[in-house]
Amino acid sequence: MGIVIENVHKQFGSFIALNDVSLTIPSGELVALLGPSGSGKTTLLRIIAGLETADAGRISFNGEETTSRSVRERQVGFVFQHYALFRHLTVADNVAFGLNVKPRALRPSKKEIKEKVHDLLKLVQLEGLADRYPAQLSGGQRQRIALARALAVEPQVLLLDEPFGALDAQVRVELRRWLRRLHDEIHVTSVFVTHDQEEALEVADRIVVMNQGRIEQAGTPDEVYESPANPFVLNFLGHVNLFHGRVHQGQARLGGLTLETPEHADANQASAIGYVRTHDIVVERSASADASIAATVKHVLAVGPVVRVELALSENGEIVEAELTRELFRELELKAGEAVFVRTRNVRVFVDDYQI
Ligand code: ADP
Ligand code: MG
Repeated sequence: MGIVIENVHKQFGSFIALNDVSLTIPSGELVALLGPSGSGKTTLLRIIAGLETADAGRISFNGEETTSRSVRERQVGFVFQHYALFRHLTVADNVAFGLNVKPRALRPSKKEIKEKVHDLLKLVQLEGLADRYPAQLSGGQRQRIALARALAVEPQVLLLDEPFGALDAQVRVELRRWLRRLHDEIHVTSVFVTHDQEEALEVADRIVVMNQGRIEQAGTPDEVYESPANPFVLNFLGHVNLFHGRVHQGQARLGGLTLETPEHADANQASAIGYVRTHDIVVERSASADASIAATVKHVLAVGPVVRVELALSENGEIVEAELTRELFRELELKAGEAVFVRTRNVRVFVDDYQI
C-alpha cells in the first residue's frame, strides 16, 4: 500500500502544526518521520490514520483518496509509546482482540484465531508468553505484544509513534534492530515516528526530517546524512562545529579555514558558516598540510567508546569539538593546555540566509 500525501495543512487555532506537507511513501517501505519535539510528526501520523483531519490537502492510499474513509476502512495498525495493553486480558487475548471484536460475519473461527495468535507470537518471538498478563512482561516485551496485536488484523499500513520511547537505552537498540528484521520479513508499509536520529538512521529505508511543521528533507539514511539539504538537517543528524566567516566568488574564509566552494561562485562577501562534524575534525601534533590550523587543547572527555576533545582555535579563540577514536587518542596523548594542529574534512558551507 503506497501512500501519497499532498499539500497537507493543519492548524490548531493560529498555530500551524503542518505547513504544506507533501510526501510519497512507497509500498512496503519503512519510513521514519524524524524531528524535534513539536515538529508535527504525531499530527502527520494521526492525519494518515484518519484520527485527525487536515484543514487542506489530500492523502491517498494506493491512488485512492482516503479523506472520506473512516479509521477502520483505512486498515491501519498502530503502536504508540504508551499503548497500554488490556491489563485484565492475557497476552493471547490481547493479540486476538482486533479479531474477536470483528462483526460475526467477518470474524475468523476460534480455531483460526488461535492459530493466528500463535503465528504472531512466534513472529514477535514471544511464543512462550501466551498465558501471561501484561503486568508480568518487561517494557520491551509489551511493545512487541502491542505490535503483534496491531498486526493481527492484517493492516495495510502500520503506524508507530515513538514505540520504543519509554524504554531504556539498551532495550531500545535491541528492539529497533528486531523491528528492522521483522519489517524485512513482512514488508508492510510502515511509518515510524522518532526524535532519535540514530534510531531513524538504523531502522528506516527512508528518513523524512521535519522541523516546525515542514519537511526539511526526505531521502535514504545515506542521502540525508551525507548530503544534508540545509544546516538544520546537518545539525539534527550529528554533532557539528561551526566556522563563521565569509564567501566571496567561490572562495570561503571561515575562522582560519580557507577553501574552494564552487557552489557559491556567485557569492559576494556573503556571510557564511562552515559546518564540520566532530569526527571530521582531525587533531595532529604537527602541521601536516597548508590547511592545518593552530589550536590549544582545552578539555578532554575520555568516557565511552569515543574521546571528545575541546579545542580553542588560536586565530579567533572559537571553540571546536573533535571526536577521536581511543586508539588515536592514546597515540596523541593529548592533555589540556597543549598546542596542537587541527584539520577539517567534509566542510559543508552554507551562506547565511539559512541558519540553525
Ligand atoms: P511531535 O509529534 O513532532 O512532537 P506534534 O505533531 O505532536 O509534534 O505537535 C506539533 C505541534 O502542534 C505542537 O506544538 C503541539 O503542541 C501542537 N498540537 C498538537 N496537537 C494539538 C491539539 N490537539 N491542540 C492544540 N495544539 C496541538
Ligand atoms: Mg509526537
